[in-house]
Amino acid sequence: MLEAIENPLFQIISDAAAELELPAYVVGGYVRDYLLGRESKDVDVLAIGSGIDLAQKFAEKIGKKSHVSVYKNFGTAMVNYREDAEWQIEFVGARKESYRENSRKPVVENGTLEDDQNRRDFTINTLAISLQKHNFGELTDPFGGLKDLDSGIIRTPLDPDITFSDDPLRMLRAIRFASQLGFTIEEETTKALSRNASRISIVSKERIIDEVNKMILSDTPSIAFRMLEESGLLRIIFPKMQDLKGVEIINGKGHKDNFYHTIKVLDNLARTTDNLWLRWAAILHDIAKPATKRFDPATGWTFHGHEFLGAKMVPGIFRELKLPMNDKMKYVQKLVRLHLRPIVLAESHVTDSAIRRLLYDSGKETDDLMLLCEADITSKNKEKVKNYLKNFSVVRQKLIEIEEKDMIRNWQPPITGEMIMATFNLKPGKMIGEIKTAIREGILDGIIPNEFQPAFKFMLKKGEELGLKANPEKIKK
Ligand code: ATP
Ligand code: MG
Repeated sequence: MLEAIENPLFQIISDAAAELELPAYVVGGYVRDYLLGRESKDVDVLAIGSGIDLAQKFAEKIGKKSHVSVYKNFGTAMVNYREDAEWQIEFVGARKESYRENSRKPVVENGTLEDDQNRRDFTINTLAISLQKHNFGELTDPFGGLKDLDSGIIRTPLDPDITFSDDPLRMLRAIRFASQLGFTIEEETTKALSRNASRISIVSKERIIDEVNKMILSDTPSIAFRMLEESGLLRIIFPKMQDLKGVEIINGKGHKDNFYHTIKVLDNLARTTDNLWLRWAAILHDIAKPATKRFDPATGWTFHGHEFLGAKMVPGIFRELKLPMNDKMKYVQKLVRLHLRPIVLAESHVTDSAIRRLLYDSGKETDDLMLLCEADITSKNKEKVKNYLKNFSVVRQKLIEIEEKDMIRNWQPPITGEMIMATFNLKPGKMIGEIKTAIREGILDGIIPNEFQPAFKFMLKKGEELGLKANPEKIKK
């Protein structure tokens, strides 16, 4: 495995370890990713002894080019090594862990290489490369991790019930790796997922959402969500998404299963964007369908207003899942609220005013909204999909043309509230908003051009209708 550790930094770690007479190994993710041909600059170094001592010795050797952060409570230390690029090296001492029933805080003791490999999550993560002088570069593979890596299998090193029960987050890691690497979870390990699913409730929401976000960012996120659903984990970590599953049938009429639809939309979108928050919008776009579902004997199933209720649900869901309550949340909320608008346009004759309205409402999110809507077409009927996509490209073309002409996306109507107040000698109040809205709507509808003079005239007329008297001086100006 010499090639994996040919960077000079590994030699320096090896020298530091020799001086301290500590056996040291590169373990886990770095070795796995190297063998998979995925370049990584995150290195985990395992010391049989104190990881912190080794980190400090290493940092001493490379001098100014490094920065050490020590986490005494965890017995770990992180070194940033700046040579030509940023390497992040985490040093840990080998551990032997045993867990209690209702806590994920393990009782930790010092251990051997073997103890440490035993407490790792999957065979593919147990591979260790020696940094010792006498066998520098030698691979230790006690659980057949190399073979599993080769055949694309996720398997726990010990009995999966023990591995998962000790730290239930490992269940999510199994699913995340399967989806990220395109691997299969071995059968006994899969069964243990279902058996231990309820244990996930002892894991913090922050650790859970970290893993879920990694699943969402994988190439085919539906793989992860299917497994989450099938194992019973989804019901516990994200019940609102679980609620999307199922088809109700009345008078022989069913509706589509919104869970499978949602994860299909997510997959579609994963092909066109790496934006985590746009992918979250896909997950949440139909989240209010269960709550708005009605059966109308004449027309069948309806989900009226699910986009508005869905947008309303977004903050609560973000809070519950420990997602950030900031502009990212607002962004997702906006996309959920608007997700039907381009479809409506694609279904009917597109007028300029409808396009202006969409540009105004979606603003800088117009392009992302179009990506979401295109991903939302999941019909099995190829002809139908083709037609929709064709209509969407008409909508896209129109969006570009109208934006070039009218510049609506970052647009502010030409008449401000201050102007309205000055013209009619008004104090701040409801009427100003009313007039402002009328002007904005007038321009978006194309009743008046997007220019100062016509908008000012329109304002005077509107004021008159509301029984207001304009200040003669202001009119002259
Ligand atoms: P990634 O960096 O893509 O998240 P990784 O496998 O490198 O994946 P890290 O969190 O960086 O994950 O952990 C490094 C190594 O530590 C893993 O390869 C694994 O051997 C071990 N490890 C991490 N988390 C756990 C856990 N919850 N249980 C057991 N071993 C773990
Ligand atoms: Mg890592």
